[in-house]
Amino acid sequence: MPQTAPSPAILQQAVDDLHDDMIDLLGDFVATASLSGAEQAAADFLEKRLQSMGLDCERIVLDSHLIASSPLFSCPCDPDGGRHNLLARHLPRQRPDGTRGRSVLFNGHLDVVPTGPEALWTTPPFQTRVEGDWLYGRGAGDMKGGIVCALMALQALRRLGLQPAGVVGINAVLDEENTGNGTLATVHALRNSMAKARLSDFDTVIIPEPFAETMMAAQVGVSWLFVTITGRPAHVAYKGQGLNPIEAGMALVDDLKQLEAEWNRPENRHPAFQNVEHPVNFNLGRIEGGEWNSSVPCTCTLGLRLGYYPDADPDTVVEQVSRRLRAKAQALNPALQLEISTRGHRSPGCIYPLDSPAMQTLAMAHRSVHGRDPEHLACTATTDGRHFSLLTDIPVTNYGPVARNIHGIDESVSLASLRRVTRTFAQFIIDWCGVEDAEEKSPLLNRDQK
Ligand SMILES: [Zn+2]
Repeated sequence: MPQTAPSPAILQQAVDDLHDDMIDLLGDFVATASLSGAEQAAADFLEKRLQSMGLDCERIVLDSHLIASSPLFSCPCDPDGGRHNLLARHLPRQRPDGTRGRSVLFNGHLDVVPTGPEALWTTPPFQTRVEGDWLYGRGAGDMKGGIVCALMALQALRRLGLQPAGVVGINAVLDEENTGNGTLATVHALRNSMAKARLSDFDTVIIPEPFAETMMAAQVGVSWLFVTITGRPAHVAYKGQGLNPIEAGMALVDDLKQLEAEWNRPENRHPAFQNVEHPVNFNLGRIEGGEWNSSVPCTCTLGLRLGYYPDADPDTVVEQVSRRLRAKAQALNPALQLEISTRGHRSPGCIYPLDSPAMQTLAMAHRSVHGRDPEHLACTATTDGRHFSLLTDIPVTNYGPVARNIHGIDESVSLASLRRVTRTFAQFIIDWCGVEDAEEKSPLLNRDQK
């Protein structure tokens, strides 16, 4: 039965009352390490929590063969290994007339990026620490905090004796940081009736990535490239007889920086990135090579990340960059051998129209919390939003908390921001899905019931 919505002040109180629960939940979630390729402990952790809240949980297993023909498939970095996404759904009451409120899917990734040397962290990366307004740990911001906000929004409504009158899904996916194949697997399964849930169950998608409570309007494309250079080894005493592939690799990267600068020039920018200072980033993320300090090395492998605009095709970008690398190597020394391969991200960019009723409702919810409109972000990274934007007609954007040092040392997320995002999500659910009396099947999770 439709219910009168709580006032923003009452909603705020309900969210504030959950502050300690939120810290406990996020702390335990972050402490459950889940590097890309090894996310299952975090999936199990979340499954237990969501089941205890009475949500309908199902596992969607990653099977690369099923999605390999998708235009958004990326060559995996890890074996599928039976890994699965966790899709949980709050199901509203059955009404006699068969109607129900509109629905939303919160889609977040479980995997976190490598921590770097633990010694650089103030406290170990998977040992959660709260200091002032910040909760520290790898994944606190990117993006376990955002997933917790979605969960806490349901909890806050429950505290008020309410539940969403439409389906609210929480899809926790694997492998976002390397490929995005986790979300692709869910979209495929839901579209092809391979799961209990259906893609048509969801009227809109929100990805709570930590972009400081902005609404994402566009994101760049990202592709990974591996370049193996073979030179000619020699005793360093006779260096002239050798051909150093590591030094050649440095020259190749220097040359790519010119291309990066060219794409970043204001006249070459995509309109959505006109006001972004340096939208296209090329990164030399890994370098491997050499055997011994006094030998000219045999080989060098560069691990590169390329960024590009939403109107560029990933394969064309890789072709263009490969041509340039080969030409430069040829110019350096025709005896250099280059082997170029792709693995990991092959992720086109996309535009997120923000004028749909769902996106306007999200902006309105933000306004009710902040008293002003949300800023729109043209993002210089990729997110799983592209799967919904490019493969479905479901309105989607990213909207999540304020975080610091994501992918860096001492990553942290703002607790005040987590509470604001939780309020925004709860308000969005009220305005978009509607609310009804809470059912008994979903007991309130509190600190004593953990
Ligand atoms: Zn992320």
